[in-house]
Amino acid sequence: RGGAAEPVIPFTQPGNLTRVYAVTSGKGGVGKSSVTANLAAAMAAQGLSVGVVDADIYGFSIPRMLGVDRVPTQLDGMIVPPLAHGVKVISIGMFVEDKQPVVWRGPMLHRAVQQFLSDVFWGDLDVLLLDLPPGTGDVTISVAQLLPDAEILVVTTPQTAAAEVAERTGLIASQTHQKVVGVIENMSYLPQPDGTHLEIFGSGGGQAVSESLTTALGYEVPLLAQLPLDIRLREGSDSGVPAAIARGGAPTADSPAAVKLAA
Ligand code: ADP
Repeated sequence: RGGAAEPVIPFTQPGNLTRVYAVTSGKGGVGKSSVTANLAAAMAAQGLSVGVVDADIYGFSIPRMLGVDRVPTQLDGMIVPPLAHGVKVISIGMFVEDKQPVVWRGPMLHRAVQQFLSDVFWGDLDVLLLDLPPGTGDVTISVAQLLPDAEILVVTTPQTAAAEVAERTGLIASQTHQKVVGVIENMSYLPQPDGTHLEIFGSGGGQAVSESLTTALGYEVPLLAQLPLDIRLREGSDSGVPAAIARGGAPTADSPAAVKLAA
């Protein structure tokens, strides 16, 4: 695999049928990785062949959320990704020493993402999800270059400040000519015992991002789901069993979103 030739990324080859979704957010902590993990597990539970690239190199959290404790094996110079809940997963967290921070510059980040795409034995995937770092930094640009056909999924909270930065992240798509497939609003409300919704982070952020991206990009960017705050979602992230597939799991709306994205 040495030499000057560019590594081959299977997802960009003619005839490749994998749907590639890059999950992005303006800020950290809005639930981007949780949404990625739950979507992946929900799609795999629907019988799809799913892969996840944890492209949040500095802030990797996918291994914990999907409960992967194994290290990848190697076969014929390729990396074989571990399976978790039927999902093939690769993360820098599998290659660094426990709890060591990743301190890399742009070119190394680019190379890591490139290797995750070209040197991992993905097989035939129906769906590949990439958990991007928040914002519009090096990795986001690398992914746009490496996977120009990846569709962007924007995660935001209902809060105005979060929505504004999420919008900017979505607008990068117009520069990179990538399609924004939709918006997922997370932490939309806390369900109350009396059935009402307590809107802890305000309301309207997801709708606002959807509308402004629709106007700016000139095509419909739907609000795909509004997910409640739910302790089971947080517990699922910590225990490695995403709530979307847990028994007695949280009644999150992400499975319908998974259905829409899988279609
Ligand atoms: P990001 O990837 O945007 O940084 P995470 O997915 O890591 O965000 O989520 C941040 C924290 O919030 C995590 O501890 C996660 O378990 C928790 N969390 C995310 N979404 C919800 C939710 N809907 N209900 C409860 N906890 C959530």
